[in-house]
This record gives sequence, C-alpha cells and structure tokens, in this order.
Amino acid sequence: MSIDTSSDYARERDAEDPLGRFRDRFVIPDPTLIYLDGNSLGRLPKATAARLKEVVEQEWGQDLIRGWNQGWFDLPERVGTKLARIVGARADEVIMADATSVNLYKLAMAAVRARPNRTKIVSDTLNFPSDIYILQGVAAQTGTELQLVQANDERRGPVEGLAAVIDDDTALVSLTHTAFKSGYTYDMAAVTEMAHAAGALILWDCSHSVGAMPIALNNCHVDLAVGCSYKYLNGGPGAPAFLYVRRVLQEPLGNPIPGWMGQKNPFEFNLHYEPTAGLRRFLSGTPPVLGLAAVEPGLDLLLEAGLDAVRLKSVGLSDYLIRLWAAELAPLGYRLRSPRQAARRGSHVSLGHQEGWRINEALIQELNVLPDFRRPD
Ligand SMILES: *Cc1c(COP(=O)(O)O)cnc(C)c1O
Repeated sequence: MSIDTSSDYARERDAEDPLGRFRDRFVIPDPTLIYLDGNSLGRLPKATAARLKEVVEQEWGQDLIRGWNQGWFDLPERVGTKLARIVGARADEVIMADATSVNLYKLAMAAVRARPNRTKIVSDTLNFPSDIYILQGVAAQTGTELQLVQANDERRGPVEGLAAVIDDDTALVSLTHTAFKSGYTYDMAAVTEMAHAAGALILWDCSHSVGAMPIALNNCHVDLAVGCSYKYLNGGPGAPAFLYVRRVLQEPLGNPIPGWMGQKNPFEFNLHYEPTAGLRRFLSGTPPVLGLAAVEPGLDLLLEAGLDAVRLKSVGLSDYLIRLWAAELAPLGYRLRSPRQAARRGSHVSLGHQEGWRINEALIQELNVLPDFRRPD
C-alpha cells in the first residue's frame, strides 16, 4: 500500500473536503494546535458560546423563574428529540438526563428488575471502567452475578465468548458500542439479536460512537441505550448524557431513582410517587438547564453536516493515518492498536509504542499536538 506522505497531499485533500467549511463554525484560537482528543472532549462550537451567553444573561438574568415556562422544563425532551435523529430512534425514545454512569445505573437496574427470575448480567473486559463499576453495583444490589467476558485482543470484541455465556439465565447484556481504547466497534444488530435469542435485554453504551457514525437503534431492535454528549457531540465538559428506551419498554420499566421530575404531576407535591407517562419517568431531579442549552447547538451542527458525511470523512482520515503509520511509524516500532477494518472501528486510532508515555509528553510539550495516552503504551 503506497502513500503520498507529503503535506501537499494533505492540503489538497483538505481543499476538496466538503465538510471543510464547518471549521469556521468552531472556536479555534490557535490554528497551529493539532487537536486529536475530540473523542474525549469535543471542540466548542461558536454558536454554543453565543447561546450560553443568551441563556445566562437573558433567560436566567432577566426572565428568572419564568424561564421554566418558557422552554426550560421541556429541554430534556427537546434536546432528546434532536439526539434521537442522530441515533436512529423515534422522537419520544430519547431524553437527556444526568451523567452517562447514572443513566446506565437507572436502565441496568430497571432491566434486571424486569427479568426477575434471571440471575446474570453479561459484559466484557473492553467496557469502560465506570460502566463495569456501575454493573458491579447493580449486580450487588439485585443479587445477580456480573459475568465479564475476557477480550484476548483489544482490537476485537469477544463475540464468541459472549455467545457462549449468554443464556436463558441472562437478564441483561450491557456493552459499549465502540471501545474507548482500541476503537473496536461491535456489530450492534448481530449482538442485539444474540441477546434477544436468549430472552435477555440489551443495553448499549454509545458514548464513543454517538456523533461519530450513524447509529440505528430502532433498526437494530435495541432495547436500551445511553451515551455521553461531550465527546463527538461537542456538548461541553460534563454535559448531560442521553438515555434511550424502546417505546414498548417505557411503561413496563421503572426508574430506580424515582424523583419528582418523573412524577405525574410534580407541582401538586403529592407524597405518593406515580410515574408520568413516557420517557420523562426516567428523570429524577431538576434538569441542568445551562448544560442542556450547551448541547443543542452541537447537535444542530451535526444534523446540518449529516452523519453519513461525517462518517465518510472520519473513515477517510483514519485510513489515511493508518497508511501513514504503516509507511513511517511501523518501521520505528509503533504498533497499530486499532482494528484495520473501518467497519469495525470507531472514529479514533490508537498507536502503541514502548516509549508511548514519553512520546505523548513530547508531542504535547514540544510539538503543539494534543493526543491522549492510555496504559500500558
Ligand atoms: C466517556 C464515557 C462515559 C462517561 O461517563 P460519565 O458518567 O458521563 O462521566 C461512560 N461510558 C463510556 C463508554 C464512555 O466512553
């Protein structure tokens, strides 16, 4: 596989990039900084900075408590409806709330309780540590067992291992769609089908794939999903996460953190909890209005650009980087830690080197590049 490694070649590709015009829609104070960490914290859209100023100074500063009747109360659904289009769900199947970890807890508890005669939760060792902690907690609190299927190669999900342990004792299968280290991406439809064949529910964490590629929750018959909005969705640090519950499961499942925002008539202040209809029952406390307002402009940008176009560019950039690695870096002892096959890869590329930590520091300190480092290399 030969490749033109010149910077002229890269500049020519940039010049013909149909998404290039979006660069100007982001705050980029240092154009020489090479930012390779959008998978961890997406850049700030200019529209978000303007929107936040408006929400703070006008809506909060002037409207005060009237803001709740002028759009704040419905923000979790309004933003969720936009996000639904990004994950291939119906408008009433996605709502914004809390952090991803908290949403995972709520949906995992609800799922295990909905399968009361089953004693197992299945996940894998590629999963994000917070997800595993949460699932360990859910197992302890429900008297079930968490079975973690070992991935022998980080670049490949243990699909056969999962098939071997998912059985009619499995209440829930909970996996991360795109693995945070290698970028390995599961075949969502196939693994969902595997869980359903055993009568188990499935819960996908889409934190590392949402916004980076088209996701088809409905078409894959996914039961439950969560994901974060500060990575490829550019929602800002600590932005509220989303949760998805397939329409037919919304009534049967209960929120293990039943709070007043999920109550039928929160402002009647009844002392008895009665869940409201639809997804709002999965809210617990007051919606984080400032955080939610910061998520919306990023979603608008993404919908304007189109998920297919974003994915096409992402695959093009990743393949280009991998070809550069093969030509320039492999001979120097760098290893490719991501799948080669684009269909099985998310939107980031991991390289390994035994001096990885020092190389990472040198890039940051001396070359104005912001990559990220994960152990071991
Ligand atoms: C980033 C990420 C999270 C973040 O969880 P928070 O609770 O929002 O901090 C969770 N799961 C996965 C797979 C992630 O990549």
